Amino acid sequence: MPLNFNTPTPIKKHIFKKIPFILKRDDLISQDFSGNKARKIYWYVHNLPKNIDTIVSFGSVQSNAMYSLSVFAKEMGLKFRYYANHIPTHLELYPKGNFLNALNNGMELIEGYDNIKTKENELFINEGIANKEAFYGIKKLAEELEQQLDGKEYQVFLPSGTGTTALFLNKGFMELGADNFKVYTTPCVGSSDYLKKQFLALEENEKFHPKIINTQKKYHFGKLYLEFYQIWLELQKETGVEFDLLYDPKGWIAVFENKKLFNNLIYIHQGGALGNVTMLERYAFLEKRD
Ligand SMILES: *Cc1c(COP(=O)(O)O)cnc(C)c1O
Repeated sequence: MPLNFNTPTPIKKHIFKKIPFILKRDDLISQDFSGNKARKIYWYVHNLPKNIDTIVSFGSVQSNAMYSLSVFAKEMGLKFRYYANHIPTHLELYPKGNFLNALNNGMELIEGYDNIKTKENELFINEGIANKEAFYGIKKLAEELEQQLDGKEYQVFLPSGTGTTALFLNKGFMELGADNFKVYTTPCVGSSDYLKKQFLALEENEKFHPKIINTQKKYHFGKLYLEFYQIWLELQKETGVEFDLLYDPKGWIAVFENKKLFNNLIYIHQGGALGNVTMLERYAFLEKRD
């Protein structure tokens, strides 16, 4: 199998703004995958139906999931077709970041969700790789943490997009009987209600759902916020680790605003640094305008 994931991923102690925490470096799982996308796709690395020759998915043209699927398809010798609702002109003219890398991996791109079609020999994967099969790989993340740490009470935090990783991590701990690990998350893409709906779509039994915490201020996904950029920079300075610019800043703001919950924090680094290239360009543009 050409796809190689470096597991278990390391853990390391850090302090950020006086909060001590353990960082789970799931970003180091593979150079080519956003950390949690590798976990989510893991089932298909070993259980791809024999007749499949194409992967089909949809979502944003900047997404980490899109790029990760392009790597997966390439490594597995499959074609990859991706539908985006809108392709920004500047990106079409000057592809970069996840978009450029996915094109270089042979992604076929089609504009418009109305055009989404799949055939029998094609595997359809939900936006953000939000499917039940993801449990298989994410449970392994729970197993790793249980093996790497002692029996203390831990609060595991990770920011959510589709919520798949947070949900299945919590369910993974519960299935292992590792109830000293409690999972907390915050929605980055929609509201708490949206996130709850996502959880319910993947797991009807609410006892498996992680706790949702929130920030006072509302943030819109993909928008630029000066405080996001600042916290991202500070994180890098204090920990020496590059975090993601889309999810992690809101994640850390949620941690600070709910500090009392976290006396033994584990923060999951879910990757995403590859997508920072385009985000940083946008932030630089913002600075020039000021
Ligand atoms: C995809 C992604 C997420 C969101 O994961 P979900 O399972 O959809 O909640 C969070 N952080 C990073 C860096 C990601 O790439």
